[in-house]
Amino acid sequence: MKCLICKKTETVKFLDDYKLEIKEDIKFFNNLKIYNCSDCNFSFVNPIPSEDKLNYFYKHVYRAVGRPPYWMTENYEDLKRYSLEDKNLNYLLYITTLLDLSKVETVYDFGGGYGDLGFLLKKKFPKLKLFCTENDANSKKVLQERGYKNFENLEDIDIKFDLIITTHSLEHLTDTNIFSKFNEILKPTGFIFFEVPNCPKEYFQGRPYDSPHLLFYTSKSMHKIAEIYNMEFFNFSYSSYSFNDDHRYQRESQNLYEELNSSKFSSTKIKKMIKKIVPNYLINLRRNFLEQKSIKKEERVNMFANNTGDNCYIRGILKKKI
Ligand SMILES: [Zn+2]
Repeated sequence: MKCLICKKTETVKFLDDYKLEIKEDIKFFNNLKIYNCSDCNFSFVNPIPSEDKLNYFYKHVYRAVGRPPYWMTENYEDLKRYSLEDKNLNYLLYITTLLDLSKVETVYDFGGGYGDLGFLLKKKFPKLKLFCTENDANSKKVLQERGYKNFENLEDIDIKFDLIITTHSLEHLTDTNIFSKFNEILKPTGFIFFEVPNCPKEYFQGRPYDSPHLLFYTSKSMHKIAEIYNMEFFNFSYSSYSFNDDHRYQRESQNLYEELNSSKFSSTKIKKMIKKIVPNYLINLRRNFLEQKSIKKEERVNMFANNTGDNCYIRGILKKKI
């Protein structure tokens, strides 16, 4: 087994079996194992699922209505309010503290769903031009309304960007070659902002599931990638809540999904009824969740305290090495 970053074989060892969030997803993620390269502190699945399967999954399944982690609803107005979640405001603060956005003209969001972050940036910096690559069928209408130009194929990108943003997308890829593309489409003075799950051994201990992630990064692996692609860190930070909280939120989300899809709702008639009720139920669930977060809950501290030594995400701003 070859490490996807350093290409060595002698440093790679079997780590664990792959854990599914949703049982039915086995048709997309069948019989996967996780391997770890000790040199890069990087983990990855093997065998890699086929491109056809992954394309179908991300176009039609991943952000489907009523599925975790997004719990999408069919209520369009409600979806747009997601942009005001703590995590997006936190990204906004981080980026605008470290970078001078008045000098940025073009922003490219790789795999950003509804493009919440670009949308927020444009509210404060109206001259920004927004671009993205997002193949999810449900997201396209919102992206268009928000003024994004969507390059569905990376090969079609014919301009260069001042800022590339990619949050919680890189872990879904089958390799790290996207950095070569980023290098190509980034202006010499441009920046890349990313966030991904932080996956040292604390991530793997007690995690409820892995899917649909295929790559598991750490600080060390991100620094290796930067070196290989001739980039350097302008900032590197650990972010978000603790590993324990992360595992707890994942378990709650997984349990909720299982409850909603359990055998007690098995008859066709009930299923039809559930289909009508569930979107409303999810809207209310989501609304309550947002409202709870917006009051003075101590938990919110976790969303705003970086570099605590126990953060389940890593993020950074990369630039080209000169
Ligand atoms: Zn390696």
